[in-house]
Amino acid sequence: MLNVCITFDYELFLGKNNAPYKEILFAPTDNLIRTLSEKGVSGTFFADVCSVDAHHRLGNEKYCEDFTLQLQSMVLNNQDVQLHLHPSWLYAEKKDGQIVLSNKGYRLHEFGFGNGGKASQIIRDGISYLENTCRTYNSDYKCVAYRAGGFSVQPERALFSTLIKNGIRIDSSVVPHMYTNEANAYDFTKVPAELNWWIDPDKGISCNSDQTSQTIFEVPVATVRPRIMQVIGKRRSELGLPPNKVLGEYVKSDCPPKKQNAVMKQYHRLRDYRYISLDTRYYLRVMEDLEYIYRKYGMDEQDGYVCLICHPKLADECRVMNMAHLIDEIRKVPERFALVNFSDIYKNEVKTKESKNG
Ligand SMILES: [Zn+2]
Repeated sequence: MLNVCITFDYELFLGKNNAPYKEILFAPTDNLIRTLSEKGVSGTFFADVCSVDAHHRLGNEKYCEDFTLQLQSMVLNNQDVQLHLHPSWLYAEKKDGQIVLSNKGYRLHEFGFGNGGKASQIIRDGISYLENTCRTYNSDYKCVAYRAGGFSVQPERALFSTLIKNGIRIDSSVVPHMYTNEANAYDFTKVPAELNWWIDPDKGISCNSDQTSQTIFEVPVATVRPRIMQVIGKRRSELGLPPNKVLGEYVKSDCPPKKQNAVMKQYHRLRDYRYISLDTRYYLRVMEDLEYIYRKYGMDEQDGYVCLICHPKLADECRVMNMAHLIDEIRKVPERFALVNFSDIYKNEVKTKESKNG
């Protein structure tokens, strides 16, 4: 069985936001929550909690209230909420009445994990904000999963041990086989052959370790390479979604890209893995991708977990419909696919197995 988790990075644009927050974030998220609820599906919203911190510091309490209320509305509607960090918010400033993000602090590591570093505190603050917010309507709520902003988890040792120390036992920051030399600089070209694996912070992401109380379970974002059979005979409208109105800008870190030689550049271009997102990909194509992953990882023999990544800030009506259609497609094959959220994965894979092992 392949368990699919529909996930959302619940966040503003990390550059300028060119429309009211309601239009960018809150209204599309309401629409997603409503649609998921109507379908009886529980997705996971990875909430960018650093944005709340920044708006509070810069005197926009309305944003903080709306964000907090919407997280509670997710919980009330049986949706799952987990931790997402874009720490560059901590350097945000107010310019001409607008809150503008800095290009500093893109990676949590820049704040330091060692003595005097702030990174661990940022994690702890994020977890307590989520737990205080979500426990109002679900006293059992626990923050157990993390996705790094920009997939920036490497180097992973200090980050993962801090997450584990603070009760986070699932990571969803790995996009298998993908690589970038941009400022968020990740290299996931060497990952275990399994769909999911346990990561020991001391051994790193590439090593499939045993499950212990000191390891973290990886539920990666699904990635695929473009396959020729997906393109042959298809109408344009069956491949991707029409472009949507983009209401904000993206910011790049001030760290320069890592140097890369011409051969390696060509190598990475040819590999060309992409993550699967309902922001851009037509639902029937996503279904084919999921079938491909099912076969590739032998899911007829075992259970595995994978996520799709989506963004409310890009979710116009067409994308919300795209998600609804995908849910219907997945439900046509209950013997092969199921829809789960991260709290379910925690219960099934972390808690149950740990109590069995004593
Ligand atoms: Zn993000």
